[in-house]
Amino acid sequence: MRDKILELEKKASPLEPNVEQRKLVRDKVVAYTERFINEIEDEKAFNITADKGAGIYDFPFGEEQLDIDTVLEVFRENVEKPGLNPASGGHLAYIPGGGIYYSSLGDYIAAITNRYAGVFYPSPGAVRMTNMLIKWMANLIGYPEGTAGNLTSGGSIANLTAIVTARDAKGLKGVDYQKCVVYTTKQAHHCIDKALNIAGLAEAIRRFIPMDEGHKMIPQELDKQIIKDKESGLIPWLIVAAAGTTDVGAVDPLEDIGKISKDHGLWYHMDGAYGAFFVMTKKGKALLKGMELSDSIVMDPHKSLFLPYGLGVLLVKEEKHLQYSHRYSANYLQDVIEAEGELSPANISPELTKHFRALRLWLPLKLCGTAPFIACLEEKLLLAKYFYDQIGKIPGFERGKEPELSVVTFRYVPKDGDANSFNKKLLQEILNDGRIFLSSTDLEGVFTLRLAVLAFRSHLRTIDEALEIIVQKTDELVRVNTQ
Ligand SMILES: *Cc1c(COP(=O)(O)O)cnc(C)c1O
Repeated sequence: MRDKILELEKKASPLEPNVEQRKLVRDKVVAYTERFINEIEDEKAFNITADKGAGIYDFPFGEEQLDIDTVLEVFRENVEKPGLNPASGGHLAYIPGGGIYYSSLGDYIAAITNRYAGVFYPSPGAVRMTNMLIKWMANLIGYPEGTAGNLTSGGSIANLTAIVTARDAKGLKGVDYQKCVVYTTKQAHHCIDKALNIAGLAEAIRRFIPMDEGHKMIPQELDKQIIKDKESGLIPWLIVAAAGTTDVGAVDPLEDIGKISKDHGLWYHMDGAYGAFFVMTKKGKALLKGMELSDSIVMDPHKSLFLPYGLGVLLVKEEKHLQYSHRYSANYLQDVIEAEGELSPANISPELTKHFRALRLWLPLKLCGTAPFIACLEEKLLLAKYFYDQIGKIPGFERGKEPELSVVTFRYVPKDGDANSFNKKLLQEILNDGRIFLSSTDLEGVFTLRLAVLAFRSHLRTIDEALEIIVQKTDELVRVNTQ
């Protein structure tokens, strides 16, 4: 038996590469990523390829071992090239992502040391780091001591955790589900609706409160609706306000909504997945006043702190509510639960074993300090305003409201023909070109183009190029139309 065990150890040894083997692969991987970053300004933001990465199927899993050069080539052709390059400054669509370098090194250390970040007993340091970040963010929002929170994989899971917490905090039981009411606007992110369904609340009544011309919830309408619902024997339960909508970047009147929520005793949740970190800027702080009145808030460092995908945050003002919905125990965890120390993430989230996410935020914050993050956010606000001003000077273009955050809506209105189909074509031409990536939305039946500035690599030269491309493609289309 000893011989058999030793033989298996040998066979499994590729899982434990030695110093030279590690160096060989690591150097190639680093060279690959360096090439990626160094060439990023010349690469397309959006790339339509023939087979859309299907070549990856030519390399099935089995006994065969590939060398690192082949593996990186397979990756480059089939994963890096096709589709969107979210790391590009030319990503100006939806809500752009990030990918700051020091986060990748945080992930690298996290993966190699593999700390058990969900529980204090095995990894007190990792839990302290996590809780320290939660406190830092709570402080940014204006939440008090005693705030608890989770580092999640993203905003959708953070919103889901918030909705489950709100459900239990307000004591909703199965019999209430058909009578409880959620108040939001048509601008709310679809993950809220998804979260309600996952949380068993598919039957909950949704009220889409009317919005003003800036796509913000009208507080008086909210108040009226809550009163009406109370009178009809329903259970007004949850308000979801937007601290920056995905669609147009609108910020609901957070303070007024907070007062109404308090008067009527509802749970006040805020979705700041896109916009909440703008609170670090002077303009954002004024705009987001009233954020601190919410009971829970979601913010996404993988959006507005420029981190690579994989980090959302939920903050809940009163820890007990998070605990109530998520604490657990099991016989095999008896040593863990009896250990003294700080609150364990596993006790206030649906996850037990998890990626040590704190490090990808902690490392860049330590190496850079907060000032560059604030400057980058301020730059994005100004770039959006700059684009708004410039596109307004070009004949034929129509703009939405001046951006409060970093999303600009606009479209070209041709002299003849249907504007919707013109702008649809214009977007397609811009995507075929690929140097910048834009998206569109439907605003009250109007096909509208969006430019969202949030990628950390988007700078003045990016916006100048975007303007050039938009004008060039528009001129070409106008010429075709009038021929
Ligand atoms: C992106 C976004 C979400 C969803 O977050 P993910 O991190 O993509 O899961 C929710 N709400 C708003 C306002 C968003 O912009």
